[in-house]
Amino acid sequence: MAYSQTSMPVIDVHLHAYESIPPNFKASWAGEPNARELSSPEDAQEHLRMVIQEMKRHNIKLAITSSTSLEALENWTSEAPGLFLTGIQTNKGRPILSPDSLKLYHENDRVHILGELGLQYHGLAPDDPIMEQYYQVAEEYGIPVCLHTGLGPPGGPHSFAPKFRTTLGKPTLFETVLVRHPNLKAFLAHAGYPYIQETIAMMYIYPELYADLGVLAWALPKKAFYATLKQLMDAGFGKRIMFGSDQMLWPGAISIAIETINEAPFLSESERRDILYNNAARFLELSEETITKHHEK
Ligand SMILES: [Zn+2]
Repeated sequence: MAYSQTSMPVIDVHLHAYESIPPNFKASWAGEPNARELSSPEDAQEHLRMVIQEMKRHNIKLAITSSTSLEALENWTSEAPGLFLTGIQTNKGRPILSPDSLKLYHENDRVHILGELGLQYHGLAPDDPIMEQYYQVAEEYGIPVCLHTGLGPPGGPHSFAPKFRTTLGKPTLFETVLVRHPNLKAFLAHAGYPYIQETIAMMYIYPELYADLGVLAWALPKKAFYATLKQLMDAGFGKRIMFGSDQMLWPGAISIAIETINEAPFLSESERRDILYNNAARFLELSEETITKHHEK
């Protein structure tokens, strides 16, 4: 493995924290060759330990971790203060906090991100009316939104997510939300793959919209991932693509994802730095002080 970049800091905008290992979860992505081969922890505490170890190995100075469990988020942030920003996921089709509680948790520095919003898993479009109040809060308080788009685990609708629909992952379904909330800060998790034309359309029309590479950089065939990343780079979005592993229960996927990006033959060194750190630092509005600290050896 190539670890030549390890001295430079990395931000991973896409992790998940678990209160316990969800039953059948490992099976959901098991069709992916890497998920089949990587080792996966037996319990939530071991998971966290493995994640932190991977983060240290790759000099990941900050990560966004989201969860359906507030306890899990608290466990992660108390275990490693300063290493994680936290996000609330959806459970049974709704974010796990009410809009008012989100406001409160945000003010108290306990929740930083609205998402990853897995609305697609519940048969909901991003502009479903149940979300409107949440977007209002996010816009007013400057809470970044992470919207799940594009793909999900192969076979999902026939197993754990009967309401999942492929087409509900189309990035253009987010358009009415962005029109209604011009100051909403948001990124498309999984960059809308495989609807890359839609991602390009949305990022072109909405210059504040970012995207992450979660899952794509380790689960897709390399050729498909490089073709996708190159398309986004060629379209001029090199300053708005962020590294996210979305390793879920396979912490070793972080290594594969970083290595895959490091080896992309069409990326310049500065483009790589943007994807692995600078774009997320800008999106998250990190202070100069924090950025300097992240660059200390
Ligand atoms: Zn996702």
